[in-house]
Amino acid sequence: MASRILKVPPFDLAVFGGTGDLAYRKLYPALFHRYIDGQFTAPSKIIGMSRQAFEQDAFRAKVAGALKRFAGGAAAGSTIDEFVQMFQFVTLDVESDEGWDELKASLNPDPAAVRAFYLATRPDYFAAIAKKIAAHQLVTPSARIIVEKPIGKDGASAARTNDAIGEVFSEQQIFRIDHYLGKETVQNLMALRFANALFEPLWNSAHIDHVEVTVAESIGIEGRARYYEEAGALRDMVQNHLLQLLCLIAMEPPASLDADSVRDEKLKVLKALKPVDASNAAEVTVRGQYRAGAGEGGAVQGYCEDVGNNYSKTETFVALKVEIANWRWAGTPFYLRTGKRLPKRISEVTVAFREIPHSIFPEESGIIRRTRLVIRLQPDEGIKLWLMLKEPGAGGMRLQHAPLDMNFADVFSIYAPEAYERLLMDVIRGNATLFMRRDEVEAAWRWIDPILEAWAHTEDAPRPYFAGTWGPAAAIALVVREGRSWSEEFA
Ligand code: NAP
Repeated sequence: MASRILKVPPFDLAVFGGTGDLAYRKLYPALFHRYIDGQFTAPSKIIGMSRQAFEQDAFRAKVAGALKRFAGGAAAGSTIDEFVQMFQFVTLDVESDEGWDELKASLNPDPAAVRAFYLATRPDYFAAIAKKIAAHQLVTPSARIIVEKPIGKDGASAARTNDAIGEVFSEQQIFRIDHYLGKETVQNLMALRFANALFEPLWNSAHIDHVEVTVAESIGIEGRARYYEEAGALRDMVQNHLLQLLCLIAMEPPASLDADSVRDEKLKVLKALKPVDASNAAEVTVRGQYRAGAGEGGAVQGYCEDVGNNYSKTETFVALKVEIANWRWAGTPFYLRTGKRLPKRISEVTVAFREIPHSIFPEESGIIRRTRLVIRLQPDEGIKLWLMLKEPGAGGMRLQHAPLDMNFADVFSIYAPEAYERLLMDVIRGNATLFMRRDEVEAAWRWIDPILEAWAHTEDAPRPYFAGTWGPAAAIALVVREGRSWSEEFA
């Protein structure tokens, strides 16, 4: 199947934090893939910035090195050489006023030219960078700003950051990235729901027993001790990625795919989340912290050793029972789970339908399991519909739970772009559908803040779990006591 490439207009992309991990590992490889697919229009430029001093050729060589490591098989030598000619480096400390004139001089002065500022620095610089961009008169009508997560560490700090950026850029110019929304399978959630007649009539609590969202990582904190100690799994994963996924599963059909129609519907879901606070947190939340155990490459140490703090109460695992108080979903719990040092890296949404009301099959036919729709985000993106079927052959009516299995790599033979590829091109095009609007971010924090507060006021520490297991036993109990199970048995 051929992929259709729609060219984007010429652009300047200025990356603050242009020598960081995110830039080298994700952003530049993503741009490279779009470049080799012929999506760019000249004259486009990518400007990397940081406090380091770099000769232009040394920076380009550094980018080329990163592409060879991180851009996969696409990284052929001569194309890389061509691509890196788009790059320019400006030494600039965002806390000082030096370097900004050089940045200004490298940007296309045409007010209609697309100019995107990517904030790939520590989040506590975001407000200061926005102010400096304004002070140095870099905002044009076609300028836009891309903000990485995390936006704030609670509702109040998120509002401060949003206020500071909002003083310089209008809401239409602000692109808050949640890279999960750029994943092909996440977008497929919308296609599945709204481009098929099969699912939407069943997409409610009358037919769906529960929904599960699991985002499991097998890695630990990978040298990000300082950030992670302050964040924890609830802020790092649930406030953004898991709640965004929940919104796409639970939202009403938007009037169209335009940015505000989709975001209006997601916002309604966030507003309908049943509050979790000190009165019910012990019942519907489980937080855990990994201890020494099995990692992918052998034995690994525990979280406290990883961060050098024996008294750390930071959670590396969260499981939640979330209820949505509206007509569509009352009575259908959403179980969310995420953690580090789990047995494998897997992100999956499972929609578990209700049991059949009555069985006509004799007991010896076997147990009739729920129909499950499993949407796999990573790895091996695809969709499985688990159905009960007759086992082939003689032996009477023996029933089996078996999947209709659609692995995207098998069905679509084209290269599936990484999330950042899609998102960066959307920024250049000015399409904000897959980005978070300010009121969404704030509604998510309004729901998260009371959980953080409830946890802060309890004596309990996070429950321990061994690295290489699926989290603390209490997380299993959270669903088992309601007669359900997490779905790794179907993975
Ligand atoms: P990083 O590797 O520590 O890079 C930070 C970048 O900021 C470097 O280029 C650094 O270069 C630059 N920098 C630091 N202080 C500066 C200053 N005063 N003025 C100008 N530049 C400065 O961090 P990262 O992992 O790339 O993460 C960047 C942001 O993206 C963070 O907000 C992070 O939470 C978010 N994020 C990262 C990932 C990821 O996969 N890495 C994923 C999602 C979100 P110099 O030190 O040379 O100035």
